[in-house]
Amino acid sequence: MTGRVTESAYAKINLSLQIVGKRTDGYHILDGVMQTVSLRDAVTVDFEAAAENTVFLTADGNPAMPTDGRNLAYRAADALLKATGRTGSVHIHIEKNIPMAGGLAGGSADAAATLRALNRLFGFPLSAGELCQTGAALGADIPFCIRGGTMRTQGIGDLLTPCAGLPPCSLVIACAGDGVSTPLAYAELDRRYGDFTHAVGASNPEKLIDALQKGDLSTVCGRMDNIFESVICERNPYVEVIRNALTEKGAVGAMMSGSGPSVFGIFRTEREAEAGLAELKRIGISGSVCTPVNREFSLC
Ligand code: ATP
Repeated sequence: MTGRVTESAYAKINLSLQIVGKRTDGYHILDGVMQTVSLRDAVTVDFEAAAENTVFLTADGNPAMPTDGRNLAYRAADALLKATGRTGSVHIHIEKNIPMAGGLAGGSADAAATLRALNRLFGFPLSAGELCQTGAALGADIPFCIRGGTMRTQGIGDLLTPCAGLPPCSLVIACAGDGVSTPLAYAELDRRYGDFTHAVGASNPEKLIDALQKGDLSTVCGRMDNIFESVICERNPYVEVIRNALTEKGAVGAMMSGSGPSVFGIFRTEREAEAGLAELKRIGISGSVCTPVNREFSLC
């Protein structure tokens, strides 16, 4: 059997991200809302049945991305072959557009797209739940990236509850300065919040979810929050520069995504978003305009 499938690997932004505790195994317990956006990599997967498993990965767009077993998409292919009992040669090609180490889950998105692509090529042997389980073993953000849309994310990021997505709007996503190591960002938060042995403030994504349900963009933006933002702002001055520039250009809201340093601005119209992006370009910062993707992906 041979076949080829190309899947879009969509980035995510965090509309809300709080830490509500820490497990004894060191994992942080999260509560927040993730939103899929149209900024994406393209992942093409070729499969040829053979007696032995081999995985081969090539990429365009960012020479810094690993193409060996350190790449999450590579590991996803390996895991999918094992989970389905198929054997053969997998060639993955990634056209990389999502900024790396930016808090946009680019690696998780590529892994999720690889899992979806191989499952499709094999005629959907794994159910949606099994596909998410296979992904969760590789990274906490992967189940969300497999399903897409807008979801409340709890637990270590693996407990997903669908909710209403962003109302019609245009987004600018930009980042500058050094990428952020997610483990280091967590370590800094641990220092700041005494290892999360006591509850830290009130996490209240219900109010944000309610505003999403009502389609009220101003209230949604007023209820966005990200516990990582102040920590990363101290290390990367561009976070504030980008947020301020987008707000001055009329963004209804602007905030850092995940552990940063990418910042997104939410505009009512594409025209306003393009003006926001032009302002960033004027001060030497690159980014892109995209839209929310509110629908979940088809997994069968
Ligand atoms: P998250 O928001 O989930 O913390 P991120 O967007 O901050 O993720 P990624 O772009 O996923 O970060 O990359 C983090 C690191 O993972 C990179 O520095 C890179 O070495 C490694 N990596 C592994 N596979 C990939 C991939 N397919 N794309 C990008 N980075 C990858």
